[in-house]
Amino acid sequence: MMHPEALDILTARLEEKRRAGLGRSLVTVGPATGARVRVQGKDCLLMAGNDYLGLCRHPALVEAAKNASHKLGAGCGASRLAAGTMDGHQELERKIAEFKHTEAALFFSTGYMTNLAAISGLAGPDDLVVSDSLNHASIIDACRLSRARIKVYPHNHPKEAARILAAEKTKGLKLLVTDGVFSMDGDLALLPDLWEAARKNGALMVVDDAHATGVWGAAGRGTLEFFRMIPQPGLIQVGTFSKALGGLGGFVAADQVVINSLIQGARPLLYTTAPPPAQTAVAEKALDLVDEEPWRREKLHNLSRRLRNGLIEKGFSVKSQSGPILPVMVGEASRAVAMAKSLLKNGLYAPAMRPPTVPAGESRIRVTVSAAHTEEDVDFAVKAFEEARQELFS
Ligand code: PMP
Repeated sequence: MMHPEALDILTARLEEKRRAGLGRSLVTVGPATGARVRVQGKDCLLMAGNDYLGLCRHPALVEAAKNASHKLGAGCGASRLAAGTMDGHQELERKIAEFKHTEAALFFSTGYMTNLAAISGLAGPDDLVVSDSLNHASIIDACRLSRARIKVYPHNHPKEAARILAAEKTKGLKLLVTDGVFSMDGDLALLPDLWEAARKNGALMVVDDAHATGVWGAAGRGTLEFFRMIPQPGLIQVGTFSKALGGLGGFVAADQVVINSLIQGARPLLYTTAPPPAQTAVAEKALDLVDEEPWRREKLHNLSRRLRNGLIEKGFSVKSQSGPILPVMVGEASRAVAMAKSLLKNGLYAPAMRPPTVPAGESRIRVTVSAAHTEEDVDFAVKAFEEARQELFS
């Protein structure tokens, strides 16, 4: 049994967080239709998630999950390397490689585990990892897990990344890691310059396109396509099915030798049970939908533009210049929490992002657009922001 004093320590720590305006709680969102949800008994417009293409409730994905479960069962019963690999995993991996124009691909249970696997599966204590200061938490955790030497460069600063890559000597390999789209700021990594820095210094580069796959590039292939870059040896793409693709799971798309290395050594692949048939079937169908329903991407970018222009016109500070992630900057954590509360009262659910997710003094409301929204929804959101500002700060 835990010593009561230890529980007192935990209680005191929670209280301290709560007083600093940094307490977190799980908010249950009720049955959803399109972009509307029930939060605390109130019907709201949802601008809080990452369902960018509005695929979460797509009938074809729900059908794919149902059929796969009926035909193949609810679970795989073993890890991929034991007895858990099924046809569905390999079919999906072939399809991901085709989608991302790479030699090979590997599927994982979540995007979080994919980053853990990609970085810790390739880099070890003899190696160097050079990482953007605003990379996602899963990349930070992956760096720690790898036990490689870690150097962090200032956000989106290819020159500094190049300087570090050139200056740091290593016995082993060098790995440059960046988000393709930064989850809290919504900006795109300067990939052509970063890749140049990696290539010149003989480094591999990992691009986490969690927020870009399905969203960016003419055909939704992600940030490489947006920058008109073609996949090349040593350029490793990470992605997730949990955001624009409406399901769950992550992937690495890369050279065969990279994928083989992960199969040998990536602990988040080796020591967990294989993703179930419903999950791989949904993922496969979602890749089809990216091609079959391109109007979703176009609508998403049009709505994002409308919302950004609307908010800026009303004097709000939106940190990103394009795309469906709109960080509305507020400042102190307590102000952001008050703002989110007021928005909710006015019928808009958009969460406050506070430290440690974002730097101190840069708390914000992270508003996200989905193809499931309408122009009326976007205009409603701008009004909700105006009302909240009036209520709190006038
Ligand atoms: N990478 C980035 C940049 C993310 O924002 C996230 C999720 N917030 C992940 C990886 C993890 O993906 P998943 O939710 O599929 O675990």
